[in-house]
Amino acid sequence: MEKGRIVILGAGESGVGAAILAQKQGFDVFVSDFGPIAERYKAVLVEKGLSFEEKQHSPTLILNASEVIKSPGIPDTVPIVKQLKAKGIAVISEIEFAKRYTHAKTVCITGSNGKTTTTMLTYHILKKAGLNVGLAGNIGNSFALQVATEEFDWYVLEISSFMLDDMYDFKADVAVLLNITPDHLDRYEYKLANYAASKMRITRNQGPEDCFIYCADDEETAKAMKHTKIQSRRYPFSIRKKIEEGAYLEGNNIHININQEDQLTMSISELALQGKHNIYNSMASGIVAKVLDIRNATIRESMGDIKNIEHRLEHVARISGVEYINDSKATNVNSTWYALESVNTEVILIMGGVDKGNDYDMLRDLVKEKVKAIVCLGKNNKRIHEAFEHDVEVIVNTFSAHEAVQVAYHLAKKGDTVLLSPACASFDLFKNYEDRGNQFKMAVKEL
Ligand code: ADP
Repeated sequence: MEKGRIVILGAGESGVGAAILAQKQGFDVFVSDFGPIAERYKAVLVEKGLSFEEKQHSPTLILNASEVIKSPGIPDTVPIVKQLKAKGIAVISEIEFAKRYTHAKTVCITGSNGKTTTTMLTYHILKKAGLNVGLAGNIGNSFALQVATEEFDWYVLEISSFMLDDMYDFKADVAVLLNITPDHLDRYEYKLANYAASKMRITRNQGPEDCFIYCADDEETAKAMKHTKIQSRRYPFSIRKKIEEGAYLEGNNIHININQEDQLTMSISELALQGKHNIYNSMASGIVAKVLDIRNATIRESMGDIKNIEHRLEHVARISGVEYINDSKATNVNSTWYALESVNTEVILIMGGVDKGNDYDMLRDLVKEKVKAIVCLGKNNKRIHEAFEHDVEVIVNTFSAHEAVQVAYHLAKKGDTVLLSPACASFDLFKNYEDRGNQFKMAVKEL
């Protein structure tokens, strides 16, 4: 029987993965991208015999869909999506679609900051425990492609708010919400409450057999939870107060109390991922591992031996007694705050790029305390100059990673840290944050 027509908007990693899964399931599939399609994806579409168009969305080929899978990068305000919604055609995310075709259970991790780190750490623990586990979602691997090609019992999925917005029947067996701080507000009518409501969709469809893990120190999460009916078992984590069932920090020790007879206590010095933010991330991953009944010894070992995660407080080199750290993924002010907080020396801070309406006030105390100089890396960093020119001595403008590293190198003294943690998006000078981080690392290696 003809299964209907699936149209996929956006031919990136998730869109192409969805196309392959939809084809395998016997749908009539059409892929449409408003921009040019990257060569590597075009080659896959051609090889699979999938029909597609690029540089346009043709209404006649799209509005006859029975269902549409939309890339998370496409906002609801684009004309074709408005037309689809007006016609009552369902628009869903790749995650929602793929989940229909797998019995695997899912650990779904969302939050404004720390998603990738927590996803990688959780995956590392589950894998080390011997579970048959896949890794997908916002992290860069298509969930749909894996469902089409592999069989796993568990998936660890990094989930963004844009993905959650197009998820309806999906249920996370284990949901993690790390924190809610302002980000991407342009997609949420500039209302934090709308963005928070989107994040809370991670608990949607959960029942008493499922788990919801969240940060008890996060005010926006607390507010959002008041407006959400949550049916799952709740496991909070905190570094400020004792938690009966969940995780908390006491002195230098993390306690994870899920099973009262078998609590896990670990010193924060045992954690391979350092910094206050990683205490949160580690507690969240630790709770996931405990609810999945993973042995304490495995959790302890995994948290101690996970490798540096690229572009996230990544140690690059130590040159003439100066430490170089790549935190290019810090694309908002909150993550730069955590990066600065985690460094115990004086800092030459390389920051700047595309300002997303940032409020730099929250960085002021840490900048005064630790930063010797700010090197601005970006086309226009007037707002950073205005925010900090009275607090730090040198604020210079640079227009390439090479130039920024050279300036920082000359300003740094033995014992200092040169930290790239931009608090801004990268698109003015770089392809993306990975490109920025890679160029930074190359420039450091040339020193
Ligand atoms: P995401 O995937 O949510 O963007 P990442 O794990 O890639 O998060 O981390 C991005 C940056 O955010 C890191 O470089 C770090 O500076 C900061 N960060 C990581 N975890 C947290 C956290 N729990 N709270 C606040 N900031 C964090």
